[in-house]
Amino acid sequence: MKLSTLACDIAESPTFALNEEARLLRERGEAVINLGIGEPKNKTPIAAVLSSAAKLTSGEVKYTPPDGLPSMKKAVIRYTEENYNRLVSPENVIITNGAKQSLFNILYSILNPQDEVIIIAPYWVSYTEMIKMCMGIPVVVTPEDGTFTPNFAEIERAVTSSTRAIIVNSPNNPSGAIYPPELLEKIVDMCERKGIFMICDDIYHKLTFDRNVAPPAYGFTKKDVESSHVIVVNGVAKLYGMTGFRIGWVVGPRELVKVMTNVLAQTTSCVSPVAQAAAEGALNGLQSVVEALRLQIQNNRDVVLQEMRTFNGARLIPPAGTFYALPDLRAFNNNSVEVSRFLLKKAMVVTVPGREFGMEGHIRISFAGSVKDVTEGIARIKWALDPTSPNEIYIGDKKMIRDWM
Ligand code: PMP
Repeated sequence: MKLSTLACDIAESPTFALNEEARLLRERGEAVINLGIGEPKNKTPIAAVLSSAAKLTSGEVKYTPPDGLPSMKKAVIRYTEENYNRLVSPENVIITNGAKQSLFNILYSILNPQDEVIIIAPYWVSYTEMIKMCMGIPVVVTPEDGTFTPNFAEIERAVTSSTRAIIVNSPNNPSGAIYPPELLEKIVDMCERKGIFMICDDIYHKLTFDRNVAPPAYGFTKKDVESSHVIVVNGVAKLYGMTGFRIGWVVGPRELVKVMTNVLAQTTSCVSPVAQAAAEGALNGLQSVVEALRLQIQNNRDVVLQEMRTFNGARLIPPAGTFYALPDLRAFNNNSVEVSRFLLKKAMVVTVPGREFGMEGHIRISFAGSVKDVTEGIARIKWALDPTSPNEIYIGDKKMIRDWM
C-alpha cells in the first residue's frame, strides 16, 4: 500500500500505546499500576458538569464559530487578565480541540518547509512529531550540565537564520522543572529582537509546588499582544483534570489567530459546544478546585521524594511542578526502553522511557494518580531494580521473589 512518507514517519504516541498495553494487561487480570499517562484522577468540577449539561439539555448543539463560542472566549479573556495581567481582545483568542491542536495549528500557521523550531530537552514527545508534520525541523537543545534547565548560551547557539520559533514548556513535562525568570527574560528578549515566536506551553502553569511559581513570559515584554512574538497555549486538561473534554486555547496576535482560525475551520470546523460549555463552567466556577488538585498532587510529589530517598542508585532532581518525575536510572541500565519494558514485565508498572523525551537513561513516572498507586508503584520499581531493597513483594495477591540478581 502506498502511503504518505511524511505521515508514515510520524511516531506512535508512546504514552497512549503504553496506556493501551496496561489496559490489556488489566483486562487479563494482572495487577498493573499505570504511572505512564499524565491524567489526574479527580472528577470533573461540578461547575463544568452543570454548564455542559445545560448546553446538552437545551438541544441546541450545533456548529459554533470556528474560533470558539463568544462566551468561552470571554472566559479566556478574563483568565488571561487574572493570570497573565494582560488585557486581550476576542480576536486574540482561539479555542481548540485540546492544547495539542493549539500547538499543531500554531506550528502549521507559522512554519514554511525546512524552518527550524528550537525545543529544550527533556521535551514533550509530541513537539518533534508535530514540527515534522508541518515540514519543519526540530532543533533540540540539551542542557550540558546534566540538569533539566539549559543556560541561555546553549539556546542562543542553536539559533540560525532559519529559526522561526522556540517552544518553552515550564513547568516542564517530563522533568517537572520550572525555568528561572532570568532565563525566560533572556529568551523573551531574544525572540522579540529577532522576530522568533516564543510558544509558551503553559498547560501546567498553576501546578507548582512549595513556593515555586512559573513566571509568565508576558511579564518580560513591554510589547502589546499584537506586536509581541509571545504566544500562550493553555487548556483545562491538567489544571482542572478535564482531559476528556479536549479544550485548549491560544492567546496571540490577531494576524496569527486569523490564519489559525482558517486552518481550524478547514480541518475540524469548530470545537464541540458541549465541551466548550464545560470549559467555560470550569473557568467561571470556583477556582478552589485547581488548588485542591494542586495540593493533592503536591502531596503525591512528597510521597515520590520520600520513596525515592531509599532507592539506591537512582538520582532524581525534585520536580518543582507538573505531576512528573524523571529519575536517572543509568546506574542500572543506559537503555530506558529496556528499563521500562523490564518494569512492566517483572513489576507490572507502566513508566515511559526517557528516550521518548530526549533524555536517554531516565524514565518518566507520573504521580497524577492515587497515593496508593504512587507508593506501591515506586516500591515495585525499587524491588525490580535495586538489589538492596527487600527481596519479596506482593503484586496483587501474588507473592513475588526477585530471582534475577
Ligand atoms: N502540552 C504538554 C506539555 C502536555 O503534557 C500535554 C498533555 N499531555 C499537552 C500539551 C496537550 O494537552 P491537551 O490534552 O489539552 O491536548
